[in-house]
Amino acid sequence: MDNIVVVGGGAAGVAAVETLRAGGFCGSLALVCGEPELPYDRPPLSKQVLTGAWDPDRTRFREASHYAQLNVRLVHGAARSLDAASRTVELSDGYRLGYDGLIIATGVRPRLLPSGHDLAGVHVLRGLADVAALRSAFEAASGNAASVNTASGNTASGNTASGNNAPGRVVIVGAGFLGMEVAAAARGLGLHVTVVDPLPEPMIRQVGPVIGAAVAALHRGQGVVVRTGIGVTRLVGAAGGLDGAADRSDRVTGVALDDGSTVPADCVLVAIGAVPETEWLAGSGLGLGNGVECDLFLRAAPGVYAAGDVASWPSPRYQRRVRIEHRMNATEMGICAAKNLLSEATGGELETFDPLPYFWSDQYKVKLQVHGDLSADCTPTIEEGSVEGGKFVAVFRRDGVPSAVLGWSSAARMPGYRKLLLG
Ligand SMILES: Cc1cc2nc3c(=O)[nH]c(=O)nc-3n(C[C@H](O)[C@H](O)[C@H](O)COP(=O)(O)OP(=O)(O)OC[C@H]3O[C@@H](n4cnc5c(N)ncnc54)[C@H](O)[C@@H]3O)c2cc1C
Repeated sequence: MDNIVVVGGGAAGVAAVETLRAGGFCGSLALVCGEPELPYDRPPLSKQVLTGAWDPDRTRFREASHYAQLNVRLVHGAARSLDAASRTVELSDGYRLGYDGLIIATGVRPRLLPSGHDLAGVHVLRGLADVAALRSAFEAASGNAASVNTASGNTASGNTASGNNAPGRVVIVGAGFLGMEVAAAARGLGLHVTVVDPLPEPMIRQVGPVIGAAVAALHRGQGVVVRTGIGVTRLVGAAGGLDGAADRSDRVTGVALDDGSTVPADCVLVAIGAVPETEWLAGSGLGLGNGVECDLFLRAAPGVYAAGDVASWPSPRYQRRVRIEHRMNATEMGICAAKNLLSEATGGELETFDPLPYFWSDQYKVKLQVHGDLSADCTPTIEEGSVEGGKFVAVFRRDGVPSAVLGWSSAARMPGYRKLLLG
């Protein structure tokens, strides 16, 4: 194998190119980055970058010299199509890259509401450009708020976007981990925050209803208005925000709910999940269900592997096809896909991808950590600490067998509990 192309310069793509070089691959290696920046990490965007604690440059995985030392060619441009028969990736500028081996790591993009995204003041959060726009919207709103104490203890003053001395009003559509992290950041800046979600508790898909209720209580204690069990019908603009008629010259003024009420808003974040970035693979012949469908070894076709948020695989551990949108998983998949691509080329044994999933979320001073599979039929028991005490470890069991552990500000305890799941 002389020529490998990795498409997608996120956590999975960077792990893949580093593993290829560490594994002895000396041929031509290109990393196609869909964004103009050097590859960067996403978790800090909704935390340290949004609050202003970190400069965005700090999210870079590596400096340019690192890729030069590895002899990895960074290609800034988007892949537009894949011709698997001729082993060619075409970029949006028409440039073509041939390959012997390909790793697909194009991640996901935010899911959008059916309409309303053209209104000024409506945001999504996936990349650096998004966080820059959201941060400046928050700064404008909080800098204009009258005598609002920020989490850092500073005081802001002035007028709001809504033209009075009340704090700027942020509405977050979607109470998943991203929405709740942004709610915490916005409260820290002194903004008035409402979160709306049709499900009964925040983060219910990630932590279940019991811990979801604790997340709701945490945010309510910080002054966030958490409105669960209620859906959004449309985003309202100053000019009426008629479906399909919105444009960027119109500005969002509220979020209409399915009980007939409207929550006033100066700024809206839509955080309702994500969809795999697979459009460029249409017609490639690869299996594209919920993401790029891989086998146990992360192989999508001979010489073609996929990794990270974009890829699904049949999990031996869980006996079903899974696709995971978490940071640690992206790196682990990038490493495994790269090793298996090299092994395939040399006739070596392929490694089964079978990790124990892990994710974390930071909200205010709370660190939530979840190891394992926490689906709806698991029941949690608090094994140590208490919800009221603000520190606890919960073990989720299915038919009496531990399937996940959740730590709430209990990082030091987690390695011991993780062993429960590894048997
Ligand atoms: C704001 C935010 C906060 C998060 N916080 C946490 C957290 O606290 N804990 C946690 O476990 N996980 C968190 N995650 C999830 C985690 O960041 C992702 O799981 C991880 O980034 C996935 O890495 P990836 O390489 O698969 O995809 P990505 O990081 O999305 O990288 C994919 C890259 O491919 C590029 N691309 C897309 N299409 C093309 C194309 N056609 N051609 C070329 N390039 C293309 C994209 O521009 C992008 O640069 C967070 C995600 C976000 C957005």
